[in-house]
Amino acid sequence: MTDRSLRLVLVSTPIGWVGSGAGGGVELTLSSLVQGLAQQGHQLTLIAPRGSSLPKGCSTLSIKLVEVAGADQPSWQHADEDAPVLIPPMGVLPAMLEEALRLSAEADAVLNFGYDWLPMWITPWVPAPMFHLISMGAVSMVMKRAIESVSRWNQGRLAFHTLRQASDFDLLQPARVVGNGFDLSQYIFREESGGPLGWAGRIAPEKGLEDAAAAAAALGDRLLVWGLREDDAYANAVEAAVPAGTIEWRGFLSTSDLQKELGDCRALLNTPKWNEAYGNVVVEAMACGVPVIAYDRGGPGELVRSGENGLLVSPDDVSELTAAVSRCETIQRRACRDWVERHASCAVFSQRVETWIREGLAADGNITAMH
Ligand code: UDP
Repeated sequence: MTDRSLRLVLVSTPIGWVGSGAGGGVELTLSSLVQGLAQQGHQLTLIAPRGSSLPKGCSTLSIKLVEVAGADQPSWQHADEDAPVLIPPMGVLPAMLEEALRLSAEADAVLNFGYDWLPMWITPWVPAPMFHLISMGAVSMVMKRAIESVSRWNQGRLAFHTLRQASDFDLLQPARVVGNGFDLSQYIFREESGGPLGWAGRIAPEKGLEDAAAAAAALGDRLLVWGLREDDAYANAVEAAVPAGTIEWRGFLSTSDLQKELGDCRALLNTPKWNEAYGNVVVEAMACGVPVIAYDRGGPGELVRSGENGLLVSPDDVSELTAAVSRCETIQRRACRDWVERHASCAVFSQRVETWIREGLAADGNITAMH
């Protein structure tokens, strides 16, 4: 006897089309999950802003893409603590939700990836079982309350990437942690270890590039930097604070090009200033065999097993970070890749998500677990 396949409506982030980079790590999470769930035989409809495309390798699988027009939703990432909810005229978020609710009549569940107020608020009021994979910590009061309200009503509808992320919220029960997943066929393992230092992520203050640059400067080393230049003034200030030539801007690359360049590095530095929910780039580097030297904060602090796949140092301590670089050769590059294969493949991630949704539906009485 096998579990019957699930019919799922997935709702993408409303802050940009899939492939734009504006959605940060959520875009890759969504792509991995779509791929992993489809490979397990589930029937998927992905609702995403106009211009989105299905991830590579997915078109032949049973996934329907519904593109929705509308104005991008502002991101909560840089919102103030007391920021109000904003929805632009002709916003893509309500339009995507309308489509999701319409299609939900033919589906077992709706799985939302957007970190926003409206999908949280409607959850207890709509007949469709809505599940939310929360992609950030508590970045403002209104979002913290919206997520906690859903948890008080039915915590089974929420999942988080890491325990550290979930600890931002007051939850009555232990958090459901599903981690994240990556299509490991896209990341080539590299045995050699003599290359430069690397850093990857959106170029924005919460990512703490200045500390990695300071460590590279202290060592007289180069730092290769990949990522979307979200905040120009910040990027210029970071560059001006270190000797010329320390930072080598490599731009925002496709996964295939990024992994090629990442794989050359002898270590990736990861220096978040916020409670990073997960830290895709940490795992992507490890998948190429690159050890990660990270601040013991947020998701990276949970993903890096000091001594196994990288080294953890005290948050905001640039001298500890600098000293750790000289020890990165003590980490076996093969062990980094092995860790990712065990904990963060598309298959293990989508299995954890499937279990979460099946258990949530069974608890609601919406589905019989076995047929
Ligand atoms: N990324 C990319 N090309 C680049 C640099 C980064 O595609 O040149 C992607 C990377 O693969 C990752 C995302 O940008 O999926 C950053 O996600 P992360 O979880 O590290 O941070 P977020 O931006 O979500 O805070």
